[in-house]
Amino acid sequence: MGSARRYPAPMSEIAVGSVAAAPGERATGLVRVHLGGECVAVLPVVVVHGATPGPRIAVTAGIHGAEYVSIAALREVVLGLDPAEVTGSIVAVLTANPTAFATRSIYVNPVDGLNLNREFPGDPAGRPTQRLAAWLVEHVIAGSDVFVDMHCGDMCEALVSFTGIEDTGNALVDARSRELADAYGLQYLLIGPSPGTTTTAAAARGIPAILAEVGGQGRWPAEDVALHAAGFRRLLQAAGVIADAPAEPRHATQVLPHEAWMRATATGYWHPAVGVGEAVAAGTVIGEVQDAFGAVLERPIAPIDGIVIFLVTSLAMNAGDPLLALAGEVQNP
Ligand SMILES: [Zn+2]
Repeated sequence: MGSARRYPAPMSEIAVGSVAAAPGERATGLVRVHLGGECVAVLPVVVVHGATPGPRIAVTAGIHGAEYVSIAALREVVLGLDPAEVTGSIVAVLTANPTAFATRSIYVNPVDGLNLNREFPGDPAGRPTQRLAAWLVEHVIAGSDVFVDMHCGDMCEALVSFTGIEDTGNALVDARSRELADAYGLQYLLIGPSPGTTTTAAAARGIPAILAEVGGQGRWPAEDVALHAAGFRRLLQAAGVIADAPAEPRHATQVLPHEAWMRATATGYWHPAVGVGEAVAAGTVIGEVQDAFGAVLERPIAPIDGIVIFLVTSLAMNAGDPLLALAGEVQNP
């Protein structure tokens, strides 16, 4: 990380709710988070407390409940670490939106229909998803030196692997986030802003933060899990938490600073005309939303030159839902 920061000796335990680890220990357990009324989220938490003082890494997976590659990869990494060989600590929430996971819910928490990754920094007196966001900020993100949010394409999305960071204007925070994203080594790097997200909430507190996305479509193939896990291990190494990390699999990262999300304006049947990972020129028809009988309701046009970073692959489409996202190297006029 290139800093000469000194860390206090780890005299006391690190606790997240009821899950507490003394120096040199790993603790695992379920933490009950009360979200108002009868609503409770039961979060699987792992605390790895290294024997040597160092940075605290906070990490979440399953902010979106049907993003399985991230959930599988985070568990593999944190349960595979030997606390005796860890410098600093890792606080991991393995499945941060457990009701969405249990119900196989796409995008939203079914408790209140809100997208958790649009509700940060949350509201401790708000709706259940807003309370969950506030709890994660207070108990997981705040007090950490680095924050990582592991995602993948949702149940109905294909994507090419990428990391995302914010442009906060704080040069030190932004440079550290960039170093960590480079260490993760995914195919593309996107640069924010992304309001309401975990990484924005972390960066606003001066905490270097990255989003990492691998895989999608409700699957968790071994090669995708290996890419996500290797990237997270390289980030831990770059942060000074572990000594060794796998060199492969990794990509030579290409930076794509300009992004355009395209959303449907009609509800119907989605027939994309482009593939995930494809380079698309501004002005290209990216597909059609049709009615039940095949009549065209809309024929959306790409607003920028860019790579199809993710693509919704379900036939069902709703007005307001994403169709795809483009990310490009240049700002089109
Ligand atoms: Zn996600």
